[in-house]
Amino acid sequence: MSHCNDSPQRIMPPAADRALVDKLVLANRILYRQGVVDGFGHASVRHPESPSHFLLARNMAPGLVRREDIVTFELDGTALDAAGRRVYLERFIHGAIYRARPDVQAVVHSHSPSVIPFGVTGTSLQPVFHMSGFLAEGSALFEIRDVAGDTDMLISNETLGAALADALGLRSMVMMRGHGSTVVGSSVEQAVYRAVYAEVNAKLQMQARQLGDVTYLNASEAAKAATTNDTQLTRVWELWAREIGIVE
Ligand SMILES: [Zn+2]
Repeated sequence: MSHCNDSPQRIMPPAADRALVDKLVLANRILYRQGVVDGFGHASVRHPESPSHFLLARNMAPGLVRREDIVTFELDGTALDAAGRRVYLERFIHGAIYRARPDVQAVVHSHSPSVIPFGVTGTSLQPVFHMSGFLAEGSALFEIRDVAGDTDMLISNETLGAALADALGLRSMVMMRGHGSTVVGSSVEQAVYRAVYAEVNAKLQMQARQLGDVTYLNASEAAKAATTNDTQLTRVWELWAREIGIVE
């Protein structure tokens, strides 16, 4: 028997593993410490047992996130346990990408400064060195004006989220003109690594271009470097986590 109901039923998934929640807290703090996020920007992880949910902090500075600030969301951006707390205006970035990319398990959105000049000039980030092999195909570019005209530049609804995910396609990074960038990964560690090294690569690419013609890693080199780097993520994650200490 069916009955009319305009809004889908909201079911809270099982509580995510505490170690994963702690890892997401750590990711927020690391991204702040590494200069990828400041008072703004955010990181999320897909719920490991319920792929149609993700975890993201409530609306707050990433460097201050604690375990109790993590909220569970549906892919349409609905918060299930916010309990009246404000949520991020741009939570739609995360849900839309998880919907479009089943391979993605973690998302980092930031306004990391060195990437901005590339976005506003439509210059793709290319892998300058082995650490950024994940940029093999270059960064994608999202032009919000093409989708929605003049806006406040934020991804503040599902339609904009879907358009951003579309621009990302199968790449690891999308630059958002006049705003920032978003990187994706198959784990929290990988997404954080990519966010940190996208910023580093942007600085290096800018410097290299001032010196002359740049030889970037080709697609084959980049793919090989990325495969090797993915086996080394623990090393750098342990270092960054040690700098933060124990999360509350
Ligand atoms: Zn933003």
